Amino acid sequence: MIAPQRNHVRSYRATLGDMSSSPWSTPPSTPWSTPPLAGGPEGADALRPLLGTVLDALRDGATARGGPLPPGGPGAVTAHLRDALADVLPDKGTGAEEALRTLVTALAHGAADPAHPHCAAHLHTPPLAVAAAADLAASALNPSLDSWDQAPAASTLEALVTRALATETHPTGPAPDALVTTGGTESNQLALLLAREHHGPTLQTVCGANAHHSLHRAAWLLGLPQPVTVPAPHGTLDLAALDAVLTDLRGPLLVTATAGTTDTGSIDPLPEIADLCDRHGATLHVDAAYGGPLLFSETRRHLLTGLNRARTVTLDLHKLGWQPVAAGLLAVPDTALLDALGHTAPYLNPDDDTRAGLPDLLGRSYRTSRRPDVLKIAVTLRALGRTGLGHLVDQVCDAAARLADQIDEDPRLDLYERPTLSTVLFRPTGATDHTVATTRRDLLTRGHAVLGRAHAGGRLWLKATLLNPHTTPDDLRELLALVEGSTTR
Ligand SMILES: *Cc1c(COP(=O)(O)O)cnc(C)c1O
Repeated sequence: MIAPQRNHVRSYRATLGDMSSSPWSTPPSTPWSTPPLAGGPEGADALRPLLGTVLDALRDGATARGGPLPPGGPGAVTAHLRDALADVLPDKGTGAEEALRTLVTALAHGAADPAHPHCAAHLHTPPLAVAAAADLAASALNPSLDSWDQAPAASTLEALVTRALATETHPTGPAPDALVTTGGTESNQLALLLAREHHGPTLQTVCGANAHHSLHRAAWLLGLPQPVTVPAPHGTLDLAALDAVLTDLRGPLLVTATAGTTDTGSIDPLPEIADLCDRHGATLHVDAAYGGPLLFSETRRHLLTGLNRARTVTLDLHKLGWQPVAAGLLAVPDTALLDALGHTAPYLNPDDDTRAGLPDLLGRSYRTSRRPDVLKIAVTLRALGRTGLGHLVDQVCDAAARLADQIDEDPRLDLYERPTLSTVLFRPTGATDHTVATTRRDLLTRGHAVLGRAHAGGRLWLKATLLNPHTTPDDLRELLALVEGSTTR
C-alpha cells in the first residue's frame, strides 16, 4: 500500500513544478523549510529555543508595561498593537523567532495582568506557573477528547480526575462523575440541558436575582421558558420568596442556587434551599463556579454545606483554582445522570469499537474536538494537594477580610459588607454613582488599577475581586490610595 501512495504524492507534486526527487524535501532554490512540529521525540528540542523567546518576550512586555494594564485606554492600546503587528498576513513570513517575539511582547505589554495585585476587577485569575507549564504539554501533544484513538491516556486521566473531583462535591453519590467544560457558562447550560432531557421542555427554571446571566442565556438557547427570578435583596436568594414561587408554579421545576455570586461573592443558603426543593419536588442545581473550591479549605468548606444535595454542580477552576482558561466542570452524584448526552458518530465511536472495549467519549461533551484541559488541573491537584489548594483559597479570602478592615478604618471610604469569599465592595464616602463609575474608568485609562463595579443596595460600588495569593497588605493600601487619589483629582 505504501509505495503506490508515495508514488501518487510524488506525481501529484511533480505536476506543481520543480520539486526535487524526494516528495518530502524542498527544492534547494527556495528558502522555505517545513516548520518543525511540537510533538514526537524531536518536538521538545524544536520547542526549547522558541520557549526561550516566548519567556523573554513575556518578561520584556510585562516590564515595559510596568503596571496592571497599559495606560491610555483602547485608542492607545490599539495603536500600539497595530504598529507592532503591521501586516497580519505578510506575503513572506518573518519566521518563528521574530513572530513570537513581536506578538508575545506586544500582547504582554498590552495585557490586563491578573498577576499584578492591582488587577482585581473580575473572576480573572492569575494562573499558577505549574498550570501554564502543563498547558504547554497539552498543546504540544494535542490529544483530542472526542475519541479514544486521539487521546488514549488523556481520556483515562480525564475519567480519573473528574471522578475524584465529583467525589469532593458529592461524597455520598452512588457514582460521582463530572464533565469537563469551557467554564461556568457551558456548565450551567449543560445543567439545564440535562434537566430538560429529564423533565421535558416545559421545565421551568427558578433562579435568584443574584444568579449568573448565563442561566438566562442557557434557557433562551435551549428553548426553555425564561427563568422566574426570585428576589435576593441582601445578595442571597430570599427563602420566603422562593417558597412562595415554588408553591405557585406548576409543572417540573429546576431551582438554581449560587455558591459565590459574581457581584458580591455571597453564598445562597444551600441547606434551606435544598429543603424547599425536596418539599416542592423541584430539582436543585448549584452554580459554584466561584465558591466551589472552598471545598479544599479546612476552615471554609462548611460554607458549602448542602452542596452535595444538588443534582448538578457547576465548578470553575479558572477562578479559585488558578488555572488558565478553560477549566470548567459540571459535577453530578451519579454518572447515569449524564446518559442524555450520549451520541454516536460512526467514525468516532462505532458500536463494535465500543463493544470491543474502546471507551466511548462522545457523550462526555457536546463539543467534538476537545482540548485535554484536565492535564493542567491534574498536575495542579498533584503538585499542591488538597492542603496547598485550600491554603491558596484561604489566602485570598483572608486578603479580602484585610482589605475590608482597611476600608472600615478609613473614614473616606464606605464598605458594603464583610466579604464571604474574596470579593469586596466599597465606594468613596458621599460619592455619587457617577463619581464611582468615572473613578473606575479613570484608574483603568491611566493604567493604575483594574477594578470592577457592582450594583448593590440601590447604589453603584467599586468591586475588588482578590484572586492573587501573593497580594500583600501594602498592595491593598496602595490600591485604596489610588482610588482616593483618583476620586479627589
Ligand atoms: C464566572 C461565573 C460563571 C461563568 O463562568 P465562565 O467560566 O465565565 O463561563 C457562571 N456563574 C458564576 C457564579 C460565575 O462566577
